[in-house]
Amino acid sequence: MLDLTGLAQVHRLDLEAGVVEVDAGISLDRLLRVVLPLGLTLPVQPGTRQVTVGGAVACDVHGKNHHTAGSFGRYVRSLVLLTGAGDAIRLKPRGPDPELFWGTVGGMGLTGVVLRVELELRRVETSRIVVRAERQPDLHGVMDALREHDRTAEYSVAWFDSLAQGAATGRGVVMTGRDAVRDDLTAAQREDPLHVPASRRVQVPHTPLCAVNGVSGRAFNEAYFRRAPRRPSTRVEHAFGFFQPLDGLQSWNRLYGPRGLVQYQLVIPDAASEVVVEVVREVAASGHVSCLNVLKRFGPGTPGLLSFPAPGWTLALDLPVRAGLDAVLDRLDARVAEAGGRLYLAKDSRLPRRHLPTMYPRLGEFAELRHRADPGGLFVSDLARRLGLHRPTEGNLHDA
Ligand SMILES: Cc1cc2nc3c(=O)[nH]c(=O)nc-3n(C[C@H](O)[C@H](O)[C@H](O)COP(=O)(O)OP(=O)(O)OC[C@H]3O[C@@H](n4cnc5c(N)ncnc54)[C@H](O)[C@@H]3O)c2cc1C
Repeated sequence: MLDLTGLAQVHRLDLEAGVVEVDAGISLDRLLRVVLPLGLTLPVQPGTRQVTVGGAVACDVHGKNHHTAGSFGRYVRSLVLLTGAGDAIRLKPRGPDPELFWGTVGGMGLTGVVLRVELELRRVETSRIVVRAERQPDLHGVMDALREHDRTAEYSVAWFDSLAQGAATGRGVVMTGRDAVRDDLTAAQREDPLHVPASRRVQVPHTPLCAVNGVSGRAFNEAYFRRAPRRPSTRVEHAFGFFQPLDGLQSWNRLYGPRGLVQYQLVIPDAASEVVVEVVREVAASGHVSCLNVLKRFGPGTPGLLSFPAPGWTLALDLPVRAGLDAVLDRLDARVAEAGGRLYLAKDSRLPRRHLPTMYPRLGEFAELRHRADPGGLFVSDLARRLGLHRPTEGNLHDA
Protein backbone atom coordinates (compact mmCIF):
# COMPACT_ATOMS: atom_id res chain seq x y z
CA MET A 1 0.00 0.00 0.00
CA LEU A 2 1.46 3.35 -1.02
CA ASP A 3 0.29 6.37 0.93
CA LEU A 4 1.12 9.48 -1.06
CA THR A 5 -0.52 12.02 1.24
CA GLY A 6 2.92 12.99 2.61
CA LEU A 7 3.79 14.28 -0.87
CA ALA A 8 1.52 17.30 -0.76
CA GLN A 9 3.34 20.46 -1.77
CA VAL A 10 2.34 23.21 -4.15
CA HIS A 11 5.51 23.73 -6.22
CA ARG A 12 4.45 26.50 -8.59
CA LEU A 13 1.41 28.69 -8.99
CA ASP A 14 1.22 30.92 -12.06
CA LEU A 15 -1.60 33.34 -11.26
CA GLU A 16 -1.47 34.97 -14.67
CA ALA A 17 -1.75 31.72 -16.66
CA GLY A 18 -3.92 29.97 -14.05
CA VAL A 19 -1.65 26.93 -13.83
CA VAL A 20 -0.49 25.09 -10.72
CA GLU A 21 2.09 22.33 -10.26
CA VAL A 22 1.55 20.12 -7.23
CA ASP A 23 2.63 16.86 -5.68
CA ALA A 24 0.12 14.13 -6.49
CA GLY A 25 -0.61 13.47 -2.80
CA ILE A 26 -2.16 16.88 -2.15
CA SER A 27 -5.89 16.70 -1.49
CA LEU A 28 -8.37 18.65 -3.58
CA ASP A 29 -9.51 20.25 -0.32
CA ARG A 30 -6.07 21.57 0.50
CA LEU A 31 -5.44 22.75 -3.06
CA LEU A 32 -8.78 24.57 -3.23
CA ARG A 33 -8.04 26.29 0.09
CA VAL A 34 -4.85 27.66 -1.52
CA VAL A 35 -6.22 28.75 -4.89
CA LEU A 36 -9.85 29.74 -4.24
CA PRO A 37 -9.03 32.86 -2.18
CA LEU A 38 -6.90 33.91 -5.20
CA GLY A 39 -9.86 33.69 -7.59
CA LEU A 40 -8.95 30.32 -9.13
CA THR A 41 -10.69 26.98 -8.90
CA LEU A 42 -10.46 23.40 -10.13
CA PRO A 43 -12.30 23.07 -13.45
CA VAL A 44 -13.60 19.62 -12.42
CA GLN A 45 -14.66 18.79 -8.88
CA PRO A 46 -15.91 15.37 -7.79
CA GLY A 47 -18.45 14.84 -4.98
CA THR A 48 -15.73 14.87 -2.30
CA ARG A 49 -12.65 17.06 -1.79
CA GLN A 50 -11.10 14.35 0.42
CA VAL A 51 -9.25 12.77 -2.51
CA THR A 52 -5.76 13.39 -3.84
CA VAL A 53 -4.84 14.96 -7.17
CA GLY A 54 -3.12 11.65 -8.06
CA GLY A 55 -6.34 9.74 -7.33
CA ALA A 56 -8.31 12.24 -9.42
CA VAL A 57 -5.95 11.65 -12.36
CA ALA A 58 -5.89 7.85 -11.90
CA CYS A 59 -9.73 7.73 -11.99
CA ASP A 60 -10.13 10.62 -14.47
CA VAL A 61 -12.83 11.93 -12.15
CA HIS A 62 -15.88 13.86 -13.26
CA GLY A 63 -18.09 16.50 -11.66
CA LYS A 64 -21.45 18.16 -12.12
CA ASN A 65 -20.17 19.93 -15.25
CA HIS A 66 -19.08 16.89 -17.25
CA HIS A 67 -21.54 17.73 -20.04
CA THR A 68 -19.88 21.14 -20.50
CA ALA A 69 -16.33 20.68 -19.21
CA GLY A 70 -15.34 16.99 -19.50
CA SER A 71 -13.28 15.17 -16.88
CA PHE A 72 -10.18 15.89 -14.77
CA GLY A 73 -7.65 14.55 -17.28
CA ARG A 74 -8.59 17.25 -19.77
CA TYR A 75 -6.97 19.86 -17.49
CA VAL A 76 -3.71 18.00 -16.85
CA ARG A 77 -0.94 19.80 -18.76
CA SER A 78 1.71 17.35 -17.70
CA LEU A 79 2.43 14.73 -15.07
CA VAL A 80 5.47 12.98 -13.68
CA LEU A 81 5.09 9.19 -13.58
CA LEU A 82 7.27 6.77 -11.64
CA THR A 83 7.27 3.61 -13.74
CA GLY A 84 7.87 0.03 -12.69
CA ALA A 85 11.37 0.34 -14.18
CA GLY A 86 12.15 3.04 -11.62
CA ASP A 87 12.21 5.99 -14.04
CA ALA A 88 10.43 9.25 -13.25
CA ILE A 89 9.24 10.58 -16.60
CA ARG A 90 7.29 13.70 -17.53
CA LEU A 91 4.33 12.97 -19.81
CA LYS A 92 2.08 15.36 -21.72
CA PRO A 93 -1.23 14.84 -23.54
CA ARG A 94 0.37 15.55 -26.93
CA GLY A 95 3.76 14.05 -26.14
CA PRO A 96 6.26 13.03 -25.03
CA ASP A 97 4.61 9.62 -24.88
CA PRO A 98 0.94 10.60 -25.28
CA GLU A 99 -0.06 6.90 -25.18
CA LEU A 100 1.36 6.49 -21.69
CA PHE A 101 -0.19 9.81 -20.62
CA TRP A 102 -3.68 8.69 -21.70
CA GLY A 103 -3.11 5.23 -20.23
CA THR A 104 -2.28 6.84 -16.89
CA VAL A 105 -5.31 9.18 -16.94
CA GLY A 106 -8.05 6.82 -15.78
CA GLY A 107 -5.51 3.97 -15.52
CA MET A 108 -6.27 3.18 -11.85
CA GLY A 109 -2.61 3.43 -10.84
CA LEU A 110 -1.60 0.49 -13.02
CA THR A 111 0.94 2.28 -15.21
CA GLY A 112 2.94 3.54 -12.22
CA VAL A 113 2.78 6.17 -9.51
CA VAL A 114 1.85 9.73 -10.43
CA LEU A 115 4.29 11.92 -8.49
CA ARG A 116 3.52 15.43 -9.75
CA VAL A 117 0.75 17.07 -11.76
CA GLU A 118 0.64 20.36 -13.64
CA LEU A 119 -2.99 21.47 -13.74
CA GLU A 120 -4.98 24.16 -15.48
CA LEU A 121 -7.23 26.12 -13.16
CA ARG A 122 -10.29 28.23 -13.92
CA ARG A 123 -10.86 31.84 -12.91
CA VAL A 124 -13.86 32.68 -10.71
CA GLU A 125 -15.16 35.97 -9.36
CA THR A 126 -16.66 34.42 -6.23
CA SER A 127 -16.54 31.12 -4.34
CA ARG A 128 -20.28 30.66 -4.66
CA ILE A 129 -22.73 29.06 -7.08
CA VAL A 130 -26.16 30.25 -8.15
CA VAL A 131 -28.26 27.11 -7.73
CA ARG A 132 -31.69 26.49 -9.19
CA ALA A 133 -33.77 23.58 -7.91
CA GLU A 134 -36.90 22.19 -9.51
CA ARG A 135 -39.07 19.24 -8.55
CA GLN A 136 -40.06 16.69 -11.17
CA PRO A 137 -42.97 14.26 -10.64
CA ASP A 138 -41.30 11.11 -12.03
CA LEU A 139 -38.12 9.71 -13.58
CA HIS A 140 -39.12 10.67 -17.12
CA GLY A 141 -39.64 14.25 -15.95
CA VAL A 142 -36.19 14.20 -14.34
CA MET A 143 -34.58 12.87 -17.54
CA ASP A 144 -36.37 15.35 -19.80
CA ALA A 145 -35.31 18.26 -17.55
CA LEU A 146 -31.67 17.10 -17.48
CA ARG A 147 -31.60 16.75 -21.27
CA GLU A 148 -33.06 20.23 -21.59
CA HIS A 149 -30.39 21.67 -19.27
CA ASP A 150 -27.58 20.12 -21.38
CA ARG A 151 -27.67 23.18 -23.55
CA THR A 152 -28.12 25.87 -20.93
CA ALA A 153 -26.69 24.87 -17.55
CA GLU A 154 -23.01 24.96 -16.60
CA TYR A 155 -23.67 22.46 -13.78
CA SER A 156 -26.53 19.99 -13.57
CA VAL A 157 -27.41 16.95 -11.51
CA ALA A 158 -30.55 15.23 -10.27
CA TRP A 159 -31.44 13.33 -7.15
CA PHE A 160 -34.43 11.04 -7.41
CA ASP A 161 -36.57 8.87 -5.16
CA SER A 162 -36.66 5.24 -6.31
CA LEU A 163 -38.64 4.15 -3.23
CA ALA A 164 -41.76 6.23 -3.88
CA GLN A 165 -44.63 4.02 -4.94
CA GLY A 166 -46.83 4.06 -8.06
CA ALA A 167 -46.76 7.03 -10.42
CA ALA A 168 -44.35 8.91 -8.13
CA THR A 169 -41.53 6.36 -8.67
CA GLY A 170 -38.47 8.34 -9.65
CA ARG A 171 -39.81 11.73 -8.60
CA GLY A 172 -36.84 13.96 -8.12
CA VAL A 173 -35.15 17.27 -7.70
CA VAL A 174 -33.13 18.61 -10.63
CA MET A 175 -30.41 21.06 -9.64
CA THR A 176 -28.61 23.33 -12.05
CA GLY A 177 -26.01 25.95 -11.33
CA ARG A 178 -23.57 28.52 -12.59
CA ASP A 179 -20.62 30.31 -11.01
CA ALA A 180 -21.90 33.32 -9.08
CA VAL A 181 -20.53 36.75 -9.97
CA ARG A 182 -20.21 39.62 -7.48
CA ASP A 183 -23.64 40.99 -8.43
CA ASP A 184 -25.30 37.76 -7.32
CA LEU A 185 -24.03 38.17 -3.75
CA THR A 186 -25.59 39.98 -0.81
CA ALA A 187 -23.80 43.07 0.51
CA ALA A 188 -22.36 41.01 3.38
CA GLN A 189 -21.12 38.29 1.00
CA ARG A 190 -19.55 40.91 -1.26
CA GLU A 191 -17.20 41.89 1.59
CA ASP A 192 -15.44 38.54 1.06
CA PRO A 193 -16.54 37.20 -2.34
CA LEU A 194 -13.90 34.44 -2.35
CA HIS A 195 -14.63 33.28 1.19
CA VAL A 196 -13.57 29.72 2.07
CA PRO A 197 -15.23 28.26 5.18
CA ALA A 198 -13.21 26.53 7.89
CA SER A 199 -13.60 22.79 7.65
CA ARG A 200 -16.38 21.67 9.96
CA ARG A 201 -17.85 18.20 9.90
CA VAL A 202 -20.92 16.97 11.70
CA GLN A 203 -20.55 13.46 13.14
CA VAL A 204 -23.38 11.21 11.96
CA PRO A 205 -25.04 8.94 14.54
CA HIS A 206 -23.84 5.34 14.70
CA THR A 207 -27.31 4.22 13.63
CA PRO A 208 -27.56 2.37 10.34
CA LEU A 209 -30.45 4.51 9.13
CA CYS A 210 -30.37 3.22 5.62
CA ALA A 211 -29.44 -0.39 6.25
CA VAL A 212 -32.22 -1.70 8.44
CA ASN A 213 -35.16 -1.66 6.07
CA GLY A 214 -36.95 0.47 3.52
CA VAL A 215 -38.80 2.50 6.14
CA SER A 216 -35.94 4.82 7.10
CA GLY A 217 -34.84 5.05 3.45
CA ARG A 218 -38.37 6.06 2.47
CA ALA A 219 -38.51 8.66 5.24
CA PHE A 220 -35.18 10.13 4.11
CA ASN A 221 -36.31 10.31 0.49
CA GLU A 222 -39.65 11.86 1.42
CA ALA A 223 -37.90 14.52 3.54
CA TYR A 224 -35.40 15.27 0.76
CA PHE A 225 -38.15 15.69 -1.83
CA ARG A 226 -40.28 17.86 0.45
CA ARG A 227 -37.29 20.06 1.32
CA ALA A 228 -37.11 21.23 -2.31
CA PRO A 229 -39.47 24.11 -3.02
CA ARG A 230 -42.68 23.26 -4.91
CA ARG A 231 -41.89 25.82 -7.61
CA PRO A 232 -38.45 26.23 -9.22
CA SER A 233 -36.36 28.45 -6.97
CA THR A 234 -32.91 30.00 -7.05
CA ARG A 235 -30.42 30.50 -4.21
CA VAL A 236 -26.75 31.32 -3.80
CA GLU A 237 -24.75 28.54 -2.15
CA HIS A 238 -21.07 28.06 -1.34
CA ALA A 239 -19.30 25.94 -3.95
CA PHE A 240 -18.20 23.48 -1.24
CA GLY A 241 -21.82 22.80 -0.25
CA PHE A 242 -22.96 22.50 -3.87
CA PHE A 243 -20.17 20.25 -5.14
CA GLN A 244 -19.38 18.22 -2.03
CA PRO A 245 -22.42 18.07 0.27
CA LEU A 246 -21.25 14.82 1.93
CA ASP A 247 -17.96 16.41 3.03
CA GLY A 248 -19.91 18.17 5.79
CA LEU A 249 -20.76 14.80 7.37
CA GLN A 250 -18.10 12.87 9.23
CA SER A 251 -18.30 9.09 8.64
CA TRP A 252 -21.52 9.26 6.56
CA ASN A 253 -20.82 5.68 5.47
CA ARG A 254 -21.88 4.51 8.97
CA LEU A 255 -25.48 5.27 7.97
CA TYR A 256 -25.30 2.07 5.93
CA GLY A 257 -24.45 -0.16 8.89
CA PRO A 258 -21.44 -2.38 9.53
CA ARG A 259 -21.73 -4.25 6.21
CA GLY A 260 -21.36 -1.00 4.31
CA LEU A 261 -22.67 -0.07 0.90
CA VAL A 262 -22.08 -0.67 -2.77
CA GLN A 263 -22.25 2.38 -4.95
CA TYR A 264 -23.35 1.03 -8.30
CA GLN A 265 -22.39 3.66 -10.88
CA LEU A 266 -22.85 3.15 -14.57
CA VAL A 267 -22.87 5.10 -17.79
CA ILE A 268 -25.37 4.33 -20.55
CA PRO A 269 -25.34 5.82 -24.07
CA ASP A 270 -28.30 7.97 -25.12
CA ALA A 271 -29.37 5.34 -27.65
CA ALA A 272 -30.17 3.01 -24.72
CA SER A 273 -31.77 5.57 -22.37
CA GLU A 274 -34.51 3.09 -21.44
CA VAL A 275 -31.89 0.99 -19.59
CA VAL A 276 -31.65 3.73 -16.94
CA VAL A 277 -35.35 3.26 -16.17
CA GLU A 278 -35.01 -0.55 -16.32
CA VAL A 279 -32.15 -0.54 -13.81
CA VAL A 280 -34.08 1.66 -11.37
CA ARG A 281 -37.20 -0.54 -11.71
CA GLU A 282 -35.26 -3.77 -11.29
CA VAL A 283 -33.55 -2.56 -8.12
CA ALA A 284 -36.87 -1.31 -6.69
CA ALA A 285 -38.57 -4.63 -7.53
CA SER A 286 -35.74 -6.62 -5.91
CA GLY A 287 -36.57 -5.23 -2.47
CA HIS A 288 -33.07 -3.74 -2.08
CA VAL A 289 -33.19 -0.21 -0.79
CA SER A 290 -31.38 2.37 -2.83
CA CYS A 291 -31.16 5.30 -0.42
CA LEU A 292 -29.40 7.86 -2.55
CA ASN A 293 -29.82 8.00 -6.32
CA VAL A 294 -28.02 10.43 -8.56
CA LEU A 295 -28.53 10.91 -12.28
CA LYS A 296 -26.36 13.10 -14.51
CA ARG A 297 -25.56 13.79 -18.12
CA PHE A 298 -22.09 13.11 -19.53
CA GLY A 299 -20.57 14.83 -22.56
CA PRO A 300 -17.69 13.50 -24.67
CA GLY A 301 -14.97 11.54 -22.83
CA THR A 302 -11.19 12.01 -22.84
CA PRO A 303 -8.86 9.71 -24.81
CA GLY A 304 -8.06 7.92 -21.50
CA LEU A 305 -7.90 4.20 -22.34
CA LEU A 306 -9.76 3.12 -19.19
CA SER A 307 -11.49 6.42 -18.54
CA PHE A 308 -15.10 5.97 -17.41
CA PRO A 309 -17.08 8.94 -18.78
CA ALA A 310 -18.74 8.58 -22.20
CA PRO A 311 -21.65 10.55 -23.69
CA GLY A 312 -25.05 9.73 -22.21
CA TRP A 313 -26.40 9.09 -18.72
CA THR A 314 -24.56 8.29 -15.55
CA LEU A 315 -26.57 6.75 -12.76
CA ALA A 316 -25.28 6.13 -9.21
CA LEU A 317 -27.25 4.07 -6.69
CA ASP A 318 -26.13 3.69 -3.07
CA LEU A 319 -27.16 0.23 -1.90
CA PRO A 320 -26.62 -1.17 1.60
CA VAL A 321 -24.97 -4.59 1.39
CA ARG A 322 -27.54 -7.32 2.06
CA ALA A 323 -27.89 -10.96 1.11
CA GLY A 324 -28.93 -11.31 -2.52
CA LEU A 325 -27.55 -7.95 -3.71
CA ASP A 326 -24.83 -9.55 -5.81
CA ALA A 327 -27.33 -11.60 -7.80
CA VAL A 328 -29.35 -8.47 -8.64
CA LEU A 329 -26.26 -6.51 -9.64
CA ASP A 330 -24.91 -9.43 -11.71
CA ARG A 331 -28.08 -9.26 -13.83
CA LEU A 332 -27.73 -5.49 -14.19
CA ASP A 333 -24.03 -5.77 -15.18
CA ALA A 334 -25.04 -7.94 -18.13
CA ARG A 335 -27.76 -5.48 -19.18
CA VAL A 336 -25.40 -2.50 -18.93
CA ALA A 337 -22.69 -4.26 -20.96
CA GLU A 338 -25.20 -5.35 -23.61
CA ALA A 339 -26.47 -1.76 -23.92
CA GLY A 340 -22.96 -0.44 -24.62
CA GLY A 341 -22.50 0.98 -21.13
CA ARG A 342 -19.93 0.41 -18.40
CA LEU A 343 -19.39 0.54 -14.65
CA TYR A 344 -17.10 3.03 -12.94
CA LEU A 345 -13.99 1.15 -11.77
CA ALA A 346 -13.31 3.79 -9.08
CA LYS A 347 -16.50 2.66 -7.33
CA ASP A 348 -16.30 -1.02 -8.14
CA SER A 349 -15.63 -3.89 -5.74
CA ARG A 350 -17.53 -6.74 -7.37
CA LEU A 351 -17.78 -6.61 -11.20
CA PRO A 352 -17.12 -10.05 -12.77
CA ARG A 353 -14.09 -10.03 -15.05
CA ARG A 354 -15.98 -11.28 -18.09
CA HIS A 355 -17.71 -7.93 -18.66
CA LEU A 356 -14.56 -5.87 -18.77
CA PRO A 357 -13.59 -6.25 -22.48
CA THR A 358 -17.11 -5.24 -23.56
CA MET A 359 -17.35 -2.35 -21.14
CA TYR A 360 -13.81 -1.11 -21.80
CA PRO A 361 -13.09 -1.95 -25.46
CA ARG A 362 -9.58 -0.45 -25.36
CA LEU A 363 -8.49 -2.94 -22.72
CA GLY A 364 -6.08 -4.68 -25.11
CA GLU A 365 -4.23 -1.42 -25.79
CA PHE A 366 -4.14 -0.72 -22.07
CA ALA A 367 -2.69 -4.17 -21.38
CA GLU A 368 0.15 -3.60 -23.85
CA LEU A 369 0.86 -0.21 -22.38
CA ARG A 370 0.94 -1.54 -18.85
CA HIS A 371 3.31 -4.25 -19.96
CA ARG A 372 5.62 -1.60 -21.45
CA ALA A 373 5.51 0.69 -18.38
CA ASP A 374 5.69 -2.04 -15.77
CA PRO A 375 7.02 -5.25 -17.36
CA GLY A 376 7.68 -6.87 -13.98
CA GLY A 377 4.14 -6.16 -12.76
CA LEU A 378 5.42 -4.20 -9.74
CA PHE A 379 2.25 -2.16 -9.27
CA VAL A 380 -0.83 -4.27 -8.56
CA SER A 381 -4.07 -3.78 -6.69
CA ASP A 382 -6.97 -5.92 -5.51
CA LEU A 383 -9.04 -4.44 -8.33
CA ALA A 384 -6.37 -5.38 -10.89
CA ARG A 385 -6.17 -8.94 -9.55
CA ARG A 386 -9.94 -9.40 -9.52
CA LEU A 387 -10.37 -8.01 -13.03
CA GLY A 388 -7.30 -9.72 -14.46
CA LEU A 389 -5.52 -6.45 -15.18
CA HIS A 390 -2.36 -7.50 -13.33
CA ARG A 391 -1.22 -10.11 -15.85
CA PRO A 392 -2.29 -8.52 -19.06
CA THR A 393 -2.27 -11.29 -21.60
CA GLU A 394 -5.04 -11.58 -24.13
CA GLY A 395 -6.20 -14.95 -22.75
CA ASN A 396 -6.30 -13.66 -19.24
CA LEU A 397 -8.42 -10.64 -20.12
CA HIS A 398 -11.04 -12.81 -21.73
CA ASP A 399 -10.95 -15.42 -19.01
CA ALA A 400 -14.28 -15.41 -17.20
C1 LIG B 1 -18.27 10.72 -1.18
C2 LIG B 1 -17.61 10.43 -2.48
C3 LIG B 1 -18.01 11.13 -3.61
C4 LIG B 1 -17.39 10.90 -4.84
N1 LIG B 1 -17.81 11.59 -5.92
C5 LIG B 1 -17.22 11.40 -7.11
C6 LIG B 1 -17.63 12.14 -8.25
O1 LIG B 1 -18.52 13.00 -8.19
N2 LIG B 1 -16.98 11.91 -9.42
C7 LIG B 1 -15.97 10.99 -9.53
O2 LIG B 1 -15.43 10.84 -10.61
N3 LIG B 1 -15.57 10.27 -8.46
C8 LIG B 1 -16.17 10.46 -7.26
N4 LIG B 1 -15.76 9.73 -6.18
C9 LIG B 1 -14.66 8.77 -6.35
C10 LIG B 1 -13.29 9.40 -6.07
O3 LIG B 1 -13.19 10.67 -6.68
C11 LIG B 1 -12.20 8.53 -6.63
O4 LIG B 1 -12.30 7.25 -6.09
C12 LIG B 1 -10.80 9.09 -6.38
O5 LIG B 1 -9.90 8.54 -7.27
C13 LIG B 1 -10.27 8.78 -5.00
O6 LIG B 1 -9.00 9.39 -4.87
P1 LIG B 1 -7.98 8.97 -3.73
O7 LIG B 1 -6.90 9.98 -3.72
O8 LIG B 1 -8.72 8.73 -2.46
O9 LIG B 1 -7.42 7.63 -4.33
P2 LIG B 1 -7.47 6.12 -3.78
O10 LIG B 1 -8.88 5.78 -3.39
O11 LIG B 1 -6.37 5.95 -2.81
O12 LIG B 1 -7.11 5.36 -5.11
C14 LIG B 1 -8.02 5.28 -6.18
C15 LIG B 1 -7.28 4.74 -7.40
O13 LIG B 1 -6.34 5.72 -7.83
C16 LIG B 1 -5.03 5.22 -7.85
N5 LIG B 1 -4.13 6.28 -7.40
C17 LIG B 1 -4.28 7.08 -6.32
N6 LIG B 1 -3.24 7.94 -6.25
C18 LIG B 1 -2.42 7.66 -7.27
C19 LIG B 1 -1.16 8.20 -7.74
N7 LIG B 1 -0.55 9.18 -7.11
N8 LIG B 1 -0.60 7.64 -8.84
C20 LIG B 1 -1.21 6.65 -9.51
N9 LIG B 1 -2.39 6.11 -9.13
C21 LIG B 1 -2.98 6.61 -8.03
C22 LIG B 1 -5.05 4.02 -6.91
O14 LIG B 1 -4.10 3.06 -7.30
C23 LIG B 1 -6.47 3.49 -7.10
O15 LIG B 1 -6.55 2.65 -8.22
C24 LIG B 1 -16.34 9.93 -4.94
C25 LIG B 1 -15.93 9.23 -3.80
C26 LIG B 1 -16.55 9.48 -2.58
C27 LIG B 1 -16.09 8.72 -1.38
